[in-house]
Amino acid sequence: MNFEELGLGPEIVRAVTERGYTTPTPIQEQAIPYILMARDVIGLAQTGTGKTAGFTLPMIEILAGGRARARMPRSLILSPTRELAAQIAENFDIYGKYHKLTKVLLVGGESMGDQIKLLERGVDVLIATPGRLLDLFDRGNILLSDIKVLVIDEADRMLDMGFIPDIEKIVSKVPPMRQTLLFSATMQPEIKKLADKFLSNPRQVSVAPPASPAETVRQSLVWTSFRKKKDVLEALIKREDVKNAFVFLNRKRDVDELAKFLKAKGYSVAPMHGDMVQSVRTVTLQGFKDGKITLLICSDVAARGLDIQGVSHVFNYDIPMHPEDYVHRIGRTGRAGMAGRSLSIAARDEDEKFVENIEKLIKKTIPLETVEIEARPAKQRERAPVRTEEPVAESEDVGFVHGGDRQSRAEKFANRRQKPAVRSNRPPRFDDAVEGPDTLAGDDIPAFLRR
Ligand code: AMP
Repeated sequence: MNFEELGLGPEIVRAVTERGYTTPTPIQEQAIPYILMARDVIGLAQTGTGKTAGFTLPMIEILAGGRARARMPRSLILSPTRELAAQIAENFDIYGKYHKLTKVLLVGGESMGDQIKLLERGVDVLIATPGRLLDLFDRGNILLSDIKVLVIDEADRMLDMGFIPDIEKIVSKVPPMRQTLLFSATMQPEIKKLADKFLSNPRQVSVAPPASPAETVRQSLVWTSFRKKKDVLEALIKREDVKNAFVFLNRKRDVDELAKFLKAKGYSVAPMHGDMVQSVRTVTLQGFKDGKITLLICSDVAARGLDIQGVSHVFNYDIPMHPEDYVHRIGRTGRAGMAGRSLSIAARDEDEKFVENIEKLIKKTIPLETVEIEARPAKQRERAPVRTEEPVAESEDVGFVHGGDRQSRAEKFANRRQKPAVRSNRPPRFDDAVEGPDTLAGDDIPAFLRR
């Protein structure tokens, strides 16, 4: 099966071929013909399966004949995070290069004025996070009454992030005569309810999760004590041939602290978490992609879906409390058939239960390694950091795993945390945590940009 046989036109096939893709992935093979037939589709597929092209390619084909009117976009793609929205927009640029479609990315943290100007000109494809879209709708800058194709991407993640009420509100403003595509990695009852309510006689297509990172990533685990984790990380970075790496932590506050520590050691480092303003997140990510930043110290905001080729290493400075996050994190390396390497640092008396849960999920034991750490002079030796921040304060951050006879320190924190991340009557929205100014200022500017 090739792309022509799926019913895509020569311009799209040319763009796809130039990208180096000759064979559709299973989700593309299944979904594209139905989407081209104007059917509603439920796609059960994760990131990494080629699902983004699975809906962008036929959408380009569908939208190619027609013109947008001012403030009335013709299609709408809802994405849970800004980074994923940006990736979808990139897909439209790559595959739509031989079409004259216009697109706008509406995400929080970017200048509203620029977005409004683009909307005024008429848009074929609108890619948005729910919060910013509703803001602009409520201000009257956008009309959804001409939407012909609606995509709800990563519905399960929307659910995790408390976006479902926003989605319902948005869909109620879109005309009922439309084509709706819903993508989700899992089909929980809430997602099923959403699909029953908003899709009409949908075709369901599903693919197995992408090859488990367990197969493409060489994983290791190092046990140490909580207070030695920094030294262990540094020793591992020195020992490994690190071209570039994600270093994952569970807490936002620790991200900044570790970034400072590594920067002081002379590494090219930048932090990345959900409290940073979007403009800085975008610049940081670009710096990492361009090789100006070697180590990206991050919370789980960067764990899912980000598609950066050629990342040599993933370090888990903290063991994630939710085992699925481990799979997402290490999946940032070993992409596109390249060899990947992950090293996880586990603290004795704290992470046993979490490691056990991860190994249960990936159905293998992570090989153990040891590393020599340099003895530091007594004066410099650090005291174990006092944890004042409860883990998992970020709406994009990790979930919890409870259970086991012994309660580790992290579990005790997790158990204590019963209040929502954002204190308000409505469910927390990702945009709550990260809205901020659109210009770079002072310490917000990543070091590599400061001269
Ligand atoms: P996604 O699941 O949409 O995040 O896509 C994962 C990766 O697969 C991206 O790097 C895509 O560029 C890539 N991809 C998409 N379609 C194909 C294809 N037909 N053949 C090979 N790679 C693809």
